[in-house]
Amino acid sequence: MANTGETILNNTGTFPACAKRQSICGYACCKFGSGNWIMLLPGEYEQAQQQNLKRDHLTFDNPSHAICHSPCHKGDLKPIDCSWYPLFPANIEATQFLVADHRKCPIPNTELFDKMREVHAAALLWEQNNPGSLEQIITLSKDFVGYMPFPYKIENNDILLMNDEELKELMINNSLPANYVCQEWLIDAQGYSATGTPDDKE
Ligand code: SF4
Ligand code: SF4
Repeated sequence: MANTGETILNNTGTFPACAKRQSICGYACCKFGSGNWIMLLPGEYEQAQQQNLKRDHLTFDNPSHAICHSPCHKGDLKPIDCSWYPLFPANIEATQFLVADHRKCPIPNTELFDKMREVHAAALLWEQNNPGSLEQIITLSKDFVGYMPFPYKIENNDILLMNDEELKELMINNSLPANYVCQEWLIDAQGYSATGTPDDKE
């Protein structure tokens, strides 16, 4: 993700595992050529208006559905979804997640554990301040493009592997084609699949 905009929570969402791999991905998460889109959380658009965060780089189908067509800069709205990328909450407790297809985002699953906890805490706080949000965003995320069920969950504060049945329940309606190759990537990286990277220790 580009690191110059600001979420309404004043969090860029940047983290080392992402910075380390931007020479591979060419900021693929900020390009919108495969039907992918950004979800604004319930109430987020209105709060961005109140905070005078600029939104000219975004095009909205409606207040919860946007695409981005130029890099965000200081003073621009960076949607919370962007700061959570490559994860997104996938159950009402925000203990299970979707993860970006790894042919697009090269960060290994095993380097996303801190991000899991961050997204979990942020999603629960959002729900507390905007009751009903999680149910709505989980329903809407079924139409995401370029995500897969994430193989780990949070349970009793531990990080555990999900079983096949649990993963099946998180399946969304769309997936990138079997022969998908991300046009943004800057190198011809081998060994990346929809569900994993060469660095995943599974
Ligand atoms: S695609 Fe993944 S690694 Fe690349 S900038 Fe986005 S979050 Fe970071
Ligand atoms: S607002 Fe646009 S440029 Fe900024 S992180 Fe999101 S997709 Fe990337």
